[in-house]
Amino acid sequence: MTIHSEIVELSPDDHFNFDCHPGVACFNQCCRDLSQALTPYDVVRLRRHLDMTSSAFLEQFTLRGIGPQTGLPVVSLRPLEPLLKACPFVTASGCRVYPDRPSSCRMYPVFRAAARQRATGVISERFLLIQEPHCQGFDRGRQWTVREWIKNQELEDYNRANDHMLALISVKNERMPGALDAQTLEQVYTACYDIDRFRETMPASDDLARLALGMAFVRRNIFGEPPEADHGVI
Ligand code: SF4
Ligand code: SF4
Repeated sequence: MTIHSEIVELSPDDHFNFDCHPGVACFNQCCRDLSQALTPYDVVRLRRHLDMTSSAFLEQFTLRGIGPQTGLPVVSLRPLEPLLKACPFVTASGCRVYPDRPSSCRMYPVFRAAARQRATGVISERFLLIQEPHCQGFDRGRQWTVREWIKNQELEDYNRANDHMLALISVKNERMPGALDAQTLEQVYTACYDIDRFRETMPASDDLARLALGMAFVRRNIFGEPPEADHGVI
């Protein structure tokens, strides 16, 4: 018999109970069944944590694909062994990149769906609580609002940086819909994910500035966004 996940929509001030710690029987189980996409900001944080260049990090720890709906490059964590789906960073005592773990790991068990209005640039967000049958964090967990969870998991910087991808996707859909040729895909990938390689062509003072420059480069120089469009800074 298949037991399905239960999904409930929450407002930012709705409550849920959750606590994940080494004492739960399922500890690390979710990190061993991987399907983990990384945002450009996730890559920045992870490669900095591991003291690697973005190129070395991407080569060693990730897989590349193409988003079926966006046509944009997609980067995901490469499982430790192809037949097992364990995250390359899971250890018996937990996550070895915990302070810089990806946004989706931080947000779990809540899923944040963000959307951007093309005309105004206003971002709206919805939150879904996903109760998977194997996860025992709900049993005796402390009570949180979604807002408290986001703060506790230090997600504000991640969400702010990740939302810049929405502007990029919007410009792409408007000006260059459909599949990208191989050369354009490579340029977008380098500017958004391989920021150390991108730095060689466009220096910037720090990682976030470099990421913002990379995304602006893609929007303007590749997708042809008009220069007057303003998406603020990361
Ligand atoms: S990055 Fe850390 S928290 Fe995320 S799946 Fe891997 S081990 Fe688990
Ligand atoms: S409680 Fe849930 S999130 Fe925590 S380790 Fe278990 S399955 Fe993963």
